[in-house]
Parts: sequence; C-alpha cells; structure tokens
Amino acid sequence: MDIALPVPTRQLYTYALPSALNLPAIQIGERVVVPFAGRQLVGIVLATNTSTALSADKIKTVISRVSEQYPLPPNLVTFLTTLSQYYHHAIGDIFQQALPVLLRQIEAPDLSYQTRWFVTESSEEEALSAIGAKAKKQLELYQVIRHNQTGTSWPELRTLGFVKQQLTALQNKALIEEKEIVPAPFHWHESDLNQDNRLKLSPEQAIVVSALNQSHQAFSCHLLDGITGSGKTEVYLQAMEKTLASNQQVLVIVPEIGLTPQTLSRFEHRFNVPIYLHHSALNDKERLDTWRAAYRGHAAIVIGTRSAIFTPANKLGLIIVDEEHDASLKQQDSFRYNGRDAATLRARQLNIPILLGSATPSLESLQNAMSHKFHYHQLNKRAGNSVQASMSLVDVNHEHLTAGVSETVKQAIADTLKRREQVLVFLNRRGYAPAINCQECHWVADCQRCNKPFTLHQKDQLLVCHHCGNQKRIVHQCQQCGSTRLAPVGQGTEQLEQHLADWFPEHSVVRIDRDSTRRKGELTKLLQAIHNKEHDILVGTQMLAKGHHFPDVTLVVILNVDGALFSFDFRAAEHMAQLLVQVAGRAGRASKPGKVLIQSQYPQHPLLQDLVNNGYRHFAQQTLAERNFARLPPFGYQVLIRAEAKYPSYPSKFLMAVSQLSLDHCQLVGPIPATMEKKAGYYRYHLIVQSEQRKTLHQAMLQVIPFLESHELTNKVRWSVDVDPLDF
Ligand code: ADP
Ligand code: ZN
Ligand code: ZN
Repeated sequence: MDIALPVPTRQLYTYALPSALNLPAIQIGERVVVPFAGRQLVGIVLATNTSTALSADKIKTVISRVSEQYPLPPNLVTFLTTLSQYYHHAIGDIFQQALPVLLRQIEAPDLSYQTRWFVTESSEEEALSAIGAKAKKQLELYQVIRHNQTGTSWPELRTLGFVKQQLTALQNKALIEEKEIVPAPFHWHESDLNQDNRLKLSPEQAIVVSALNQSHQAFSCHLLDGITGSGKTEVYLQAMEKTLASNQQVLVIVPEIGLTPQTLSRFEHRFNVPIYLHHSALNDKERLDTWRAAYRGHAAIVIGTRSAIFTPANKLGLIIVDEEHDASLKQQDSFRYNGRDAATLRARQLNIPILLGSATPSLESLQNAMSHKFHYHQLNKRAGNSVQASMSLVDVNHEHLTAGVSETVKQAIADTLKRREQVLVFLNRRGYAPAINCQECHWVADCQRCNKPFTLHQKDQLLVCHHCGNQKRIVHQCQQCGSTRLAPVGQGTEQLEQHLADWFPEHSVVRIDRDSTRRKGELTKLLQAIHNKEHDILVGTQMLAKGHHFPDVTLVVILNVDGALFSFDFRAAEHMAQLLVQVAGRAGRASKPGKVLIQSQYPQHPLLQDLVNNGYRHFAQQTLAERNFARLPPFGYQVLIRAEAKYPSYPSKFLMAVSQLSLDHCQLVGPIPATMEKKAGYYRYHLIVQSEQRKTLHQAMLQVIPFLESHELTNKVRWSVDVDPLDF
C-alpha cells in the first residue's frame, strides 16, 4: 500500500501490510507505524492494494496500526491531496502539518476530555452580590460562563482575555465548577440563539444573509465587501443560523484570534453552542480537543487561524473567512498555502457555501467577483448611526517636523484631546529608531548576517535586527572611525511614544506593538484600558489596525507610508491601501465623526490621491486595470522559486539552470536577488515562472521540480516553491 510519510520528498512510499494486521481491513486515511531509514515514522495510508514494480524482498512491512480511532475522513484526504498537487508541496509534509501533534506520534495520546466550566446552583442575584460590583472582570467572567449551558472551556476563556486568578476566585466562592463531561454530538435547540443581542439587519445586510441561505447545501462563494463598521460580523452571525439550525457545523477563519477577542466574544454571546478554537496559543492537548470535537460533531462552531482549515469538521455546512485580504492567511514558510484559497477549495469539494469578508478585499477576490465567479455583495454604509471618517493628506514638504510629526498633525492631536476624545497614531515601525549612524563618517551599525541596519531599542538598550532577530548591546563608539558621536536615524514607535508624552504631558500615551505586548495577556489588558479611557493617545503598528473597535478614537494619524509608493513589488500599493483603509477604519466607530490625517512627502502621488479622494474600491478598480494591462495576477499566474545558500554563487547558478529548460507558454523572470538579498547569513535569489494559464504553469512545474530535485546543487541550496506568492 502507499503511504505518505513526514519527509520532505514529494513521493509516496510503498509498504506491505502483514495479513495479521489487516483485520479489520485497513482503510485509506488510517495511520500506521513504518520503518524508515533506521527510524520509525507515523504515516498515512493513501492507497491500499497497490501494485508495485519493486521486488517483494525490497518492500518493507508496516510495523503496526495506530490503535486509536481517528482515521482521516476521506474528504480530508482528498482535500490535502489536491492541495499537495496545487501547491507542488510534499504530500507527507502536508499531512504532517494538517494533523495535531498528538496524532502524529507513535504513542497513544491522552484522550480524556477537556473539562468545561459551568455555573453552580446559586442564583444570578446571589452570585452578583457574592462577587461585588467592584470585581468587573469576575462579573464578566461569571456572565460568560452562565450564558453557555454547554459549558465553556479554559482556552475560550483565556482567549477572551480572562486569567486563572479570576476563575479561581469564582470557584472559591462556589459560583462556578469544573466538570469533566463526555461531549455529545451537538444538536440545535431554538434557545441556542440569543435573541437579546441580535440586531435587525439593514436591507443591504439582509440580502447577503438571504443569498447565503438560498445556497445552503451547495457550493457558492460570496464576497462581502463592506466598509469598516458596516456590520459584516452581524452578517456572519445571522448567516450561520440556518446552518447551525440544521445541525451542521460552521468554520470561521480569522487572521489572528489573539488580536481580536471582541469578535470571539460576539460569537459566544450570540450562540449557546459548543465553540472550539484553533490558534497558536493553544497547547497540543487543546488542539487535539478541537480536532476531535470537530471530527465527532461535538463542536458546532470552530473559530481559528488559517490552519483551522484542516480541522475534520465532518458535518461542515458553512465556511466564513474574515479579513480575506489579510496576508497572515498565507503561510510564509514550508507549505506556502493561502488559507482563503484553501478554504474555497474545501467548500467546493464539500459542496457547501463560503463567505469571504473584508473592508478591503484582495484584488484576486475582487476580480473573481467582477468575473462572476463569486457572488458580490457590498455594504456601503456604516451600521447604526456612525459615519465614515474623512481622509486627508498632510504635505510634509511645507511643514516643520519634530520627530517626524508635522505641526498640522500636532495641532489636530491637541484639538482632539481638548474634546476629550482619543487619538490613534500609526507608525509601522517598532523600536526607537530604524538605524543608528556615526555623525562623523556616516558609518551605520549593520547586522552582518543581513547587511541591513540594526533597529535601536532604547528601553532594552539593544540593537535588534528586525530581519533575522540577531541582537546585541548598544554600541557607543563608531566601529569605523572611533567617534562617539552616534545618533539614531528616523523614528520608531518607542520614540514616538516618548515625544507624544512630552508634548502632551496631561495625557496618557499607550503603545501597542509586538514589543509592548510580548507578555501573555498584555494586549488584552492594554485594549481593555483603552476602552476604559485610561489612555488618550494610542501609538502603534499594524497590530492596531486589525479589527479593533475603539469607539472613542476620533482622530487617526498615519505617519510615513511613502515607502510603498516606490516599491518594485507590484503588490505594495495594494497592501498599502489596505493598511491605510483598515487603520483609518478605527476612527469614528461610534456616533462621533472621525478624521484621518495621512502625512506624506508625496501628497500628489496618484495612488494616494485616488485612495483619499475616491476610496478603496475605485483605487482597486484602477489597480486591477493596470494589472490587467501588465498581465500580472490576478490576470496571470505566478510561481516563485526561492533559493538561498551561504555562498552567493550557488542560488543564482541553481536557478539559472531552470532558465535553460524550455517551458511551453511560460515566461521566466530572473534569477534575481531577493528584496532582502542576504538574510541571516544566507544569500537569496528568486526566479518567477509565470503564465496566463494556470494549467500551463502547473505543467511547467511538473517539469521544473524533478529537474531541481536532481540538480547537482539541490542539496547545497535551500529551495522552495511558492505558488501564488504574495511577497517577494
Ligand atoms: P464590521 O464587522 O463590518 O466592522 P460590525 O459587524 O462590527 O462591522 O458592526 C459595527 C457596529 O455596528 C457594531 O457595533 C454592530 O453592533 C453594529 N451593527 C451591525 N449591524 C447592525 C444593524 N443591522 N443595526 C444596528 N447596528 C448594527
Ligand atoms: Zn539580521
Ligand atoms: Zn564614524
């Protein structure tokens, strides 16, 4: 039989199954233990009864079947097999990545069920008085647990931002208890829908929900293009009702759950059904729990990041992908799949509807909508009585800048603070300064492994390379001329935070970026403090752009986006526009009108002008027209072959060899050095293979890959294949 093994080759391996092991008859999708290169590996059976050209004495035999009961369902096997063909990625590695760690091991995993939290007998009034009005978080926690009759798991509570102490406090007051329950397949009851927070849909929203209801039980893909705050989440919630009511499961894919606990909380409040999570902050046992709950039909809703697409929800009835444009949906190493595209394929194979939502849809999805492959729905108005913020450009050429901030911006911040409203200042660069240099000889402190400047982190007294993570203590002397006149160049969020605190001493500044939120639970804490209006000025990177609601923010300032205007990456403009619009969308979410100021050195640049004056959709149409003219994606298709090695000549030579092949109807671009030509000590090169036909491109890759695999340098370079690459 043919077995996929967790090794980096693209082939399957043939093993014999001793007849003693074939009772009951082995099924495709089962896991078996086999000998491989002196080790034992767990593999997945992909074909039984295969004939082979190998002579019988060459074939090794299966050692054992993995005894516990979770053979991969056939539809998951089909799905993963198709992905391996589409992404030209090693099948064994895909199975490896799709399975929870505990199911990839030879040892039987702990299959006890995760405990869930329930409220005790005490009445709500008793509980509230026992907790006391001051312990707000405990009250909130109690309410969450009380709401859900099916119990709430610790991973859910943790993801919602609660901590163990709050849980223990309630437990000590005998208000909640932990129960080990054997979950039952989820079954819908009328009362599972919480009517009290269900909103009356606007006509625009209602159309989307009814379109989805109509395509219930059949594949169709819907793009929901709705401006920030237009009520997309409400559409998701109501679109799920029919699926859940027919006892089918819903899979919700989001970019990063940890960043948006509010979204999870809305799902928890709306439905009294078992919700299971899948994201990077879960441990192995918790991941297995979600996997099993989906498999056995205990989970009604699975919410997770991109790899949640591999959960074997056996009664899946609807897939929702939120923020479908988000780059984090694409895995950027080893198996480089796009979670959105994989989700669409999964929906097609399962013959169920899929809903993609975004305020700034990817050009790929917009083009699919334009060409009627997707159903296209727009939400053009903000829900409730909030209005969309007005955007304007600030020309820094005619202004005095201090620490990169213009007088106009400073004044606008002062005015907003005077009205007791919050300000968000966006700068996509963490650290104190993106470089330090010598005032005498212009020497720059570079990371030797990447040939790029170190970022100065003043607080930690460190120089950190943001490309490879390399770090060292701050240097105080020029390593070229010995001068001690070293100075930071440019601004990062850390510096900006300091200046803002100096300029507005009466006001509290909070910084949100990867550095300030490194500690577990810190982000939730900071977000909570912002909601409680403990801070007036929010400074941060793109972490601030993602899905948050800041109802009291009425001014958004965007500093320094000019880099994207002149990038040679053809997607840079699209990504800049998405980021700008997403950040801008944080302003004026409540009833107060918002304002967005974008500081630029090139305010006349047509891209900025178009975006600011005509909005994202117009910008997207223009950009699509340009892509069409250049036959770039989504009008042509690309595969990016990356190669890197410690010797600069290897990767270019390796890729150069490909350009000798004759590939029908494909164009080759390169080999060229990558944008980051050197990273972590490796020299990096790219080769782009492109074609107007996806089929042609796939055919070409079937020729290219074996060629690369057998090339003399194949083991001397690290190389990879990226189908539909997003970054170069
Ligand atoms: P999006 O996901 O598009 O950013 P949300 O679904 O978060 O938008 O909605 C933004 C705000 O508008 C939320 O506070 C939500 O409760 C409210 N809202 C959404 N739909 C409606 C509706 N039909 N009527 C009233 N308020 C709504
Ligand atoms: Zn580096
Ligand atoms: Zn010097």
